[in-house]
Amino acid sequence: HLPGDVMEELTGAQLIAESLKTQNVEYMFGIVGVPIIEVAMAAQAAGIKYVGMRNEQAACYAASAVGYLTGRPGACLVVSGPGLIHALGGMANANMNCWPVIVIGGSSDRNQETAGAFQEFPQVEACRLYSKFSVRPSSLEVIPSVVEKAVRTSMYGRPGACYIDIAGDMVNAKVDRSQIRVVSCCPDPPVSLADHGAVAEAVSVLKTAKRPLVIIGKGAAYSRAETALRELVETSGLPFLPTPMGKGVLPDDHPHCVAAARSRALLQADVILLLGARLNWILHFGLPPRFDPNVKIIQVDLCAEEMGNNVRPAVALLGDINAVVTQLLQGICKDGWKYGSGTEWWSLLRNKIAANAKISKTLALQSTVPMNYYTVFHHVSQLLPHDCIIISEGANTMDIGRTMLNNYLPRHRQARCTTAAFTGAPTCPVRLDAGTFGTMGVGLGFAIAAATLERSNGEKGRRIVCVEGDSAFGFSGMEVETMCRYNLPVVIIVVNNNGIYSGVDPETWREMAKMGDLTSIAPPVTLLPEARYDEVMAAFGGKGYLVRTVEELRSALELSLTDWQRPSLLNVLIDPSSDRKQQEFPWLTRSNL
Ligand code: ADP
Ligand code: MG
Repeated sequence: HLPGDVMEELTGAQLIAESLKTQNVEYMFGIVGVPIIEVAMAAQAAGIKYVGMRNEQAACYAASAVGYLTGRPGACLVVSGPGLIHALGGMANANMNCWPVIVIGGSSDRNQETAGAFQEFPQVEACRLYSKFSVRPSSLEVIPSVVEKAVRTSMYGRPGACYIDIAGDMVNAKVDRSQIRVVSCCPDPPVSLADHGAVAEAVSVLKTAKRPLVIIGKGAAYSRAETALRELVETSGLPFLPTPMGKGVLPDDHPHCVAAARSRALLQADVILLLGARLNWILHFGLPPRFDPNVKIIQVDLCAEEMGNNVRPAVALLGDINAVVTQLLQGICKDGWKYGSGTEWWSLLRNKIAANAKISKTLALQSTVPMNYYTVFHHVSQLLPHDCIIISEGANTMDIGRTMLNNYLPRHRQARCTTAAFTGAPTCPVRLDAGTFGTMGVGLGFAIAAATLERSNGEKGRRIVCVEGDSAFGFSGMEVETMCRYNLPVVIIVVNNNGIYSGVDPETWREMAKMGDLTSIAPPVTLLPEARYDEVMAAFGGKGYLVRTVEELRSALELSLTDWQRPSLLNVLIDPSSDRKQQEFPWLTRSNL
């Protein structure tokens, strides 16, 4: 330094925070403690919103939901050892779902490594299985470029989790700003088009289809393909089926949606345009007995390695879904081709939809107390605002809720989040659930993330509705305190059947307790009958409702939906033996039982 130069010293914590902010990471969820308290404080000082959570798993679920909802990763901040290990569940869930997230873990001081330091653990190695990229910066000077690489890697190619390990002694160590190379914000992922020849081939395969089907997966939601996709479906006249998280890209009440004839559509389609969905367990591997063995799949994905998993595609279109759908649209429009609405395939699908609707309706209109799942969802779906974000988890709760709780496209907010104009507002994805990994306990973290994003718009935003099984709720139940602390107006509906899959009624439970030691005789699926989850919410200042009847359900939900000041929890007691209607094939969570 020359005499007269002003030194500006930065701590490691400030450098991490500034680097994240420079990369447009706007939200951080975490639990602080030694050695990372200063990182959270520096993040706030840098203009990053910090949400303190109650368990690192839920913090990581929240941070990854920000990534899915905005296209830019959220950060999850955790302490060393056990803190980081709790976050692994969230990283695995994000990586399996292909959602971007940055996890930052404090760790032992550099001079104490392998010495048996407090909460010492091989964190970088541990994270490797759960991430795309796992690294420990070796000096303060490299932090900006390491953060840029982590953020870029989390978003580019197939999105996923990235881990940055911060040695405890680096948090308060100082460096002069002049020593730091400025690393600018990494742009949104480059968009690639599919090969022209392959697009032409796909169009000709589609045109020869007798029983075509478009499957819309969460890749399509992530790619914000809603506008192009609507045009494709409406111009081509093709029927479409959303996967669980593909719901809401196009509205569930769209005339071309055949979700209510799901099994039939999958089984008999002869050509499937697969948009951002893997042929994994969620789609029964694309194989018989659930699919036609000769089905021709036109597979669209940005991950080349995904092509051909379980089924060799007739045509592989490598590229961004939004871009590829636009290409397909041009090919289809060229000669004005349209799949007729009077075909045998359409009438078969329409008949099946009508028949299924009738069965659900019969179950929904039962007015017995305790209620069944169909009755609950029927009334909930009537009252929910059309532009709400639905979060759902549980076994029956999620499976049945998926068929009965509709998503409608929020038309007024479709802008893609870009680096140039970061709005923080979720755009297309409007449905989040247990996902590819079937993770239970994600709901409250997702809801906190979605509600935080909605609030950041400065207006009321969209309503976040979290439909939980009682078992699923339990995994992260303490996060209701987080919701109360930040006044996040989430509406939680716990569909309470006293157990995992099913439970017993209070009287049976009391009888069992008299008969002997419950640890020997209580069915492992049971939970405490009529547990007062509503009082858990009330304990922290939120609003709790105990609900047994249709009238109570409707009035509690109406009240919750008008309350923008605090979260609400409806504890909906249903028949502990209520089940799904008879299925042609058992599927989703039940498929592996
Ligand atoms: P679902 O749960 O709806 O079945 P999956 O998570 O199985 O969806 O599949 C999503 C797929 O979408 C992944 O294979 C992922 O690589 C792909 N994908 C994600 N984003 C995009 C995008 N922008 N363009 C194309 N493919 C994408
Ligand atoms: Mg249950």
